[in-house]
Amino acid sequence: MTQPHDLMSLMSRLDMQKLAQVASKVDLPALLEAAANLDESQLKQLTKLLQGGGNRKAAKLPEPNGDFFDIAGTLTERQRDIQRRVRHFMETEVAPIANEYWSRDEFPKQLIPKFQELNLIREIYDETGSRREDASVVEGIVTMEMARVDVSTATFFGVHSGLALVSIALGGSEEQKREWIPKILDMSVIGAFGLTEPDVGSAAAGGLTTTCRREGDTWILDGQKKWIGNATFADFVVIWARDVDDDQVKGFILRTDNPAYHVEKIQGKVALRMVENGLITLRGCRVPESDRLQQANNFRLTADVLRATRAGVAWQGVGCAMGAYEKSLKYAQTRDQFGKKIANFQLVQNLLVHMLANVTAMQTMCLRLSQLQDAGQMRDEHASLAKVYTAATCRATVALAREVHGGNGILLEHHVIRFFMDTEAIYSYEGTNEINTLVVGRAITGFSAFV
Ligand SMILES: Cc1cc2nc3c(=O)[nH]c(=O)nc-3n(C[C@H](O)[C@H](O)[C@H](O)COP(=O)(O)OP(=O)(O)OC[C@H]3O[C@@H](n4cnc5c(N)ncnc54)[C@H](O)[C@@H]3O)c2cc1C
Repeated sequence: MTQPHDLMSLMSRLDMQKLAQVASKVDLPALLEAAANLDESQLKQLTKLLQGGGNRKAAKLPEPNGDFFDIAGTLTERQRDIQRRVRHFMETEVAPIANEYWSRDEFPKQLIPKFQELNLIREIYDETGSRREDASVVEGIVTMEMARVDVSTATFFGVHSGLALVSIALGGSEEQKREWIPKILDMSVIGAFGLTEPDVGSAAAGGLTTTCRREGDTWILDGQKKWIGNATFADFVVIWARDVDDDQVKGFILRTDNPAYHVEKIQGKVALRMVENGLITLRGCRVPESDRLQQANNFRLTADVLRATRAGVAWQGVGCAMGAYEKSLKYAQTRDQFGKKIANFQLVQNLLVHMLANVTAMQTMCLRLSQLQDAGQMRDEHASLAKVYTAATCRATVALAREVHGGNGILLEHHVIRFFMDTEAIYSYEGTNEINTLVVGRAITGFSAFV
């Protein structure tokens, strides 16, 4: 016969909310009477059961997996291997420090030698800066895996291995490519890309105010460049400036040890805080003709660079949303409310399924975009549509992630607020949603709505 103190001890282990739920389904007084008549060993067994022991094995929950349609299964063995290497790197080297450096508003430079060991850029470009036959798919998967853990890291990498490298690959002479491309591939020099100005963003094509003026074999650069990623520690910045003589946009490889190179880190940024964005000021900055990009004689070349790298930015949205989804599912499987994991609730499942559908739609769209790019069939409007869709869908997805996390969703330690804030940068750079929408609108209607 159960002793009163045994029963009290048993009762103290009970979750009263769960008990109330049980009471609505069974005859609780009869159950309690039966419990009171249990002998000691029966009581022990019951206690074990209530503690989650007994013969019942805890159900193994599915691991969060943001690749629901098995995009990885469409990759070649080499591409899969690259994906695995990047995932391992991001999870072991970047994930543990991402929040700390995001808070410090600083890029962790100690990652650069580790990036060098990974030797990733050579998986995308050859020694002359030409794209490998599956460059876009590889670049996409690499970008997705980076952004899945930390968008700042993907941006650092994209500015260097995309915008800076492609400017020289498309705009440089053979001699310039020989000098710079191997060092860019090695990451023994770090690059940046300076197009945007304090007063000129979307209107860069016709409105650059930074000027270049030729004096013999020297060019004189004057003006400012704003938002330039990596500019505070880069070894060179590709500067785009308008020639005062022929009014055409020209590109320059500006070495940052130039005494007239002045850069201030932009303060108060609340997205991509790990990326160091600079405000560059050039006053009478002298650059030799040998550092002018010899094939970059008008803005068409600049636009070619942006077109080549836009798909990569679309993939950033994919990775960011994927990371936010996986974090949210894990949280929902572990967070208890009302005596249950919140993943039990229909409304929470609705949020998770909505997120997964977004991620899957973005992945399949971007994979096809990259296949088109690798086949030489990608047009401006293809890249712009993917950028428009992924930036907006990523924004919607990270908002759902923050919702799944409740109040914890705004604490950095749960990560999704970092994804949430970083999405705001994706939304604006490499062409805002409006500008990319106008590109697609022009292509599908035959009417240009640009003003
Ligand atoms: C975090 C971050 C990193 C960046 N990194 C770099 C970098 O490394 N190098 C670099 O060169 N630049 C960089 N940029 C700049 C980025 O490319 C610009 O922010 C972008 O081109 C938009 O320009 P803007 O911010 O001046 O906005 P604006 O051009 O001033 O646009 C403001 C608003 O007006 C809308 N708008 C403008 N024109 C039109 C139009 N014709 N029709 C309809 N709507 C219009 C825009 O869509 C937007 O909503 C970065 C920006 C950010 C935020």
